[in-house]
Amino acid sequence: MAKHKVFINAGHGGNDSGAVGFVVEKDVNLIMAKAAKEYLEKNNINVYMHEDDLNDKSQSSTDVINACESFKSDVAIDCHANAGGGKGFEIYKGISGLGDKLAEYIEDEVKKIGQNSRGIKTRKNSNGRDYYYFIRQTSCPAVICEAAFVDNKADAEMLDTEAECKRFGEAYARGILRYFNIKDICTGATDKGETEQTDNDRAEAAQKAAVEPYLVKITADALHIRNTPAMSNNIVGVIRDKGVYTIMDEQAADNHRWGKLKSGAGWIALEYTKRL
Ligand SMILES: [Zn+2]
Repeated sequence: MAKHKVFINAGHGGNDSGAVGFVVEKDVNLIMAKAAKEYLEKNNINVYMHEDDLNDKSQSSTDVINACESFKSDVAIDCHANAGGGKGFEIYKGISGLGDKLAEYIEDEVKKIGQNSRGIKTRKNSNGRDYYYFIRQTSCPAVICEAAFVDNKADAEMLDTEAECKRFGEAYARGILRYFNIKDICTGATDKGETEQTDNDRAEAAQKAAVEPYLVKITADALHIRNTPAMSNNIVGVIRDKGVYTIMDEQAADNHRWGKLKSGAGWIALEYTKRL
């Protein structure tokens, strides 16, 4: 079977910085786009990103569309970040309905990394056609992903490290894999690995940890993982499986008791868990 083809564009580039706030849009767009590319390629997807785009050079909208069309892409995504007052992710799709499922899956995957969504949107021009060139001129399902607002402090904090930007690109990639109905070879280990530890792991962990590692069962439907033990804007993930996780360390802070996850993903508030 021929490989699925994905066209990825990183919005702006070169002299065009895009929106500038606490972070610069073109920089975060490029990291997200590259992360999506890498993730999809690991899953055996044929990805096209233009050489100029990869090297942070600007391209005209026409060049972008021509590249996408000649690649005969199955889907296309355009990575952007927002500005102008707001908080959260949003995704634009075409009015034809062609990109409906793609947008839905990507939005869902973005919510899973802890970002709120302002919704799946369409925008029309004065002729009643799709406003955005990237959506109007491409013949495959195409979406524009606006990860977060660069001028909103809380949002910008979700984009101010390379690792955080990558999480968005990887979420987009997971949405695309779902659209193709392809099993993701990159997950599994990260989702369920928590519960399967060997005796060696336990012994090694016990030596390093301040508390004896113990198991908890998550009682909340969705529990945020935070990179520091505090409720402020430092969400790095969310647990939705009500699963069993290993706590390696504890800390009292911000009027909560916090537990450090064995995976290294971060800290969770222990009142939303039951110790086993
Ligand atoms: Zn943009």
